[in-house]
Amino acid sequence: CGVFGIWGHPEAARLTYLGLYSLQHRGQESVGIVTSDGQRLHAVRGMGEVNEIFTESVLDKLPGHCAIGHVRYSTAGEVSLNEAQPFSIKCHRGELAICHNGNFPFAETMRAELEREGAIFSSTSDTEVVLHKLARSRQPHLQQAIADVFRELEGAYSILILTPDSLFVVRDPRGFRPLCLGELDGATVVASETCAFDLIGATYVRDIAPGEILTVNREGLRTEYPLPPQTPAFCIFEHVYFARPDSRIYGRSVNKSRHKMGKQLAREQPVEADIVVPVPDSGVAAAIGYAAQSGINFRFGLVRNHYIGRTFIEPTQSIRNFGVKVKLNPVRDLIEGRRVVLVDDSLVRGTTSRKIVEMLRQAGAREVHLRISCPPTISPCYYGVDTPSTAELIAANQSTEAIRQYINADSLGYLSHEGLLAACGADEGLRFCTACYTGKYPLPVPQRAVGRSHR
Ligand code: 5GP
Ligand code: SF4
Ligand code: MG
Repeated sequence: CGVFGIWGHPEAARLTYLGLYSLQHRGQESVGIVTSDGQRLHAVRGMGEVNEIFTESVLDKLPGHCAIGHVRYSTAGEVSLNEAQPFSIKCHRGELAICHNGNFPFAETMRAELEREGAIFSSTSDTEVVLHKLARSRQPHLQQAIADVFRELEGAYSILILTPDSLFVVRDPRGFRPLCLGELDGATVVASETCAFDLIGATYVRDIAPGEILTVNREGLRTEYPLPPQTPAFCIFEHVYFARPDSRIYGRSVNKSRHKMGKQLAREQPVEADIVVPVPDSGVAAAIGYAAQSGINFRFGLVRNHYIGRTFIEPTQSIRNFGVKVKLNPVRDLIEGRRVVLVDDSLVRGTTSRKIVEMLRQAGAREVHLRISCPPTISPCYYGVDTPSTAELIAANQSTEAIRQYINADSLGYLSHEGLLAACGADEGLRFCTACYTGKYPLPVPQRAVGRSHR
């Protein structure tokens, strides 16, 4: 998911809309904005993408100087309007809205407890548990209530909470998910990624620190660290795939990391070939790095159709590999008779790669060597990324040679764990979560959750 917040700007709703637009890659299922006019909160949520829900007239219904917004892709709970964020409630504290990027691995246990005590949930989302906990807390100040709740509920969370007069910005002590602080004409802005600041002309100030609770209101900005400190575990997958390459994540250029992944991949997994071809768009930056290091020419040998909606009408007569062909098509003139190094950011189920390899062969490729700019994905994520269950992760169940045969490539090579860490700045002091590549979870996950499908 992606979150955006702004405090102290007359165009809060419009700027949030723009911020969410640039975070759209982080979630396409639903979108929502809640604004505050200083007295009351105003909310609009919908299923779909930012520009489908927020028209000029809808934005006019969102007055005020403060706002939070969310784009969702689900890692917990169902996909329906009930789960669309930000959530908002009225309780003894007054009005409260919340949006969340991350995941609470233990939310189900806590939810069951709350339900036994009589709580009524309106969604299947783990984030709603936080709302209930906040509403129940006896702490007079919300800032303290937030600290109490998160001392009890560990997890991965970059969270924004809006009340009629304050914005609270919270990042979990391990810093699993990114969250950045910026400034625009004296207003305070926060976003999952810095690309949102670029679009609205805000300046990046710093990252929200792991374990930080930042309160923004009329008195200014106040930072506190009330949670027990932990060793940071920044999600490395943000640099591999999830974030936009033009963002700075954990203070580091995503494009730079991907370029270095590609260069290191070429050192670790060299091959004699005629051209380097990326799987667009996710493989592009690493492919450029691979080409630069190996000296093999970079070519856009696969063209992507950018105008694909969520559904398309399939032909009645089955066309081979139709699904992937709608999105990608080989440039025969570049591919025919050539030995191709195909570079992608990750191999998850293997189904896409298998189809792309076949398409390249149909286009006349002499050899196809698949290179993946991260290690084999062997474990599901419990911290906010929608990795499939262990059963569906091909590398959790098969050897690299067996995968190579399945996708029918002439060779298959992955970037090493050490290579990935170095490319992302671990040698410069950044500390990462790499659990989906190692199975070593920085925050324990509930036993019964292990191996369960994440939708
Ligand atoms: P697969 O190996 O499962 O067929 O697909 C791999 C492709 O899925 C890669 O091109 C990669 O960019 C993309 N991918 C990797 N992780 C995710 C994810 O979490 N969500 C989505 N939508 N795509 C992903
Ligand atoms: Fe990121 Fe993987 Fe860790 Fe999940 S398990 S937070 S995707 S590095
Ligand atoms: Mg991809």
